[in-house]
Amino acid sequence: MAQRFYSTNSAGKYVDLQEAVLRSLPPDNGLYMPESVPVMDAAFWAHWREWPFAELGYRIASSLFAGAVPEEILREIVGDAINFDAPVVTIAEKMHVLELFHGPSLAFKDFGARFMARLMGWLTREDERDLMVLVATSGDTGGAVASAFHGVPGTKVVVLYPSGKVSNLQEKQLTTLGDNITALEVAGSFDDCQRLVKAAFLHRKLAEERNLTSANSINIARLIPQAFYYFHAARQLPEDVEPVFVVPSGNFGNLTAGLLANLMGLPVRQFIAATNVNDVVPVYLEGGNYEPRASCPTISNAMDVGAPSNFVRLLDLHHHKHGLMADRIAGCRFDDEQTRKAIREVEANAGYVIEPHGAVGYLAAEAWQADHPDDEMIVLETAHPSKFLDVMEEELGEGAVEIPERLARLAGREKVAIEMPPEEAVFLSWLAQVES
Ligand SMILES: *Cc1c(COP(=O)(O)O)cnc(C)c1O
Repeated sequence: MAQRFYSTNSAGKYVDLQEAVLRSLPPDNGLYMPESVPVMDAAFWAHWREWPFAELGYRIASSLFAGAVPEEILREIVGDAINFDAPVVTIAEKMHVLELFHGPSLAFKDFGARFMARLMGWLTREDERDLMVLVATSGDTGGAVASAFHGVPGTKVVVLYPSGKVSNLQEKQLTTLGDNITALEVAGSFDDCQRLVKAAFLHRKLAEERNLTSANSINIARLIPQAFYYFHAARQLPEDVEPVFVVPSGNFGNLTAGLLANLMGLPVRQFIAATNVNDVVPVYLEGGNYEPRASCPTISNAMDVGAPSNFVRLLDLHHHKHGLMADRIAGCRFDDEQTRKAIREVEANAGYVIEPHGAVGYLAAEAWQADHPDDEMIVLETAHPSKFLDVMEEELGEGAVEIPERLARLAGREKVAIEMPPEEAVFLSWLAQVES
């Protein structure tokens, strides 16, 4: 039977792939999870180390979807989405970095966003109206989503970003694509952008008429392709190695995907959740108390999350048993001063340039290795250092970071954005009349 999905708040009730992906958030405010997580079979393990990355991903997705998408279509979607590599680089003895930044927006979110975009395009193929994707961004997510949907037939993306509050290059990522991507420059904060998006979804008639959907990070379609690279990382180490994965975490989607890979049979010795001072999950892992709170700004800002959205998925996967979760996941936190020092040390000792999120992971790996010297560590490097140029140059000096071609090219492109006041009525009437 094709895979079905349940909400973490209503066990026993199921929806199909189409509803889970297009609705994104269940009406009961839980998060969607696959009904069954298959264990990969002998035929998979006989060949998993040989396939191209996209083929490996297709096999995993095929097993998870169990026929919910025709096989040849799924193979095409995965092949199209995963058209860049995720290499493992060894930086010291038993210390490896999994580079997840080789996609178009230079962060691991490209994996999830590109797969989701193509899957949504296919799921709505018979709809006469375009699917309109709304996304509010404080910087990174919008870039990944915009680039992922760019040119996907039958879709139109509206990105709302706070004027003057995203970096110059981030703004270029949102405002220079054109075609089916429209950028709205909101004269307000990120919270204003989120409020406008929410107002559109609450307006049932408009949401229905414009065929609105959301592309936020809790969509189940974004998790699935993130499981692919755990397999891909493990197979880049020798056959007998059972790695420890260190995951720099904010909303804990990346870690959730690793747990899925593990449930599908990938041998993993241990998971380590590495955070900055926004450490509500490490605190929970240590003592069993979960106390979400307001986030604090840090230099690893994609992890500045005080109430991680995927925590309910972590609970669900461990049957709400603190002991089970604490066995499988070790928590670790580091502050900005430690992170800056790690950036300098990794460069000095290994000649490797690691950005702040990866550096938090590196610190966690180093701490684990002090007690477990035989373990092989794989640290997920979630973004390219050029995305955090200010911090990198403060620590390593000017010119220490190479700017990839695809980012440098953006600098010369012209920004096109529609100015929008932070007022719901204005936004809703714009949305009602915009061409689609
Ligand atoms: C989103 C993001 C994270 C956090 O990932 P989660 O899945 O939310 O835990 C870490 N690093 C970077 C660079 C990110 O963009």
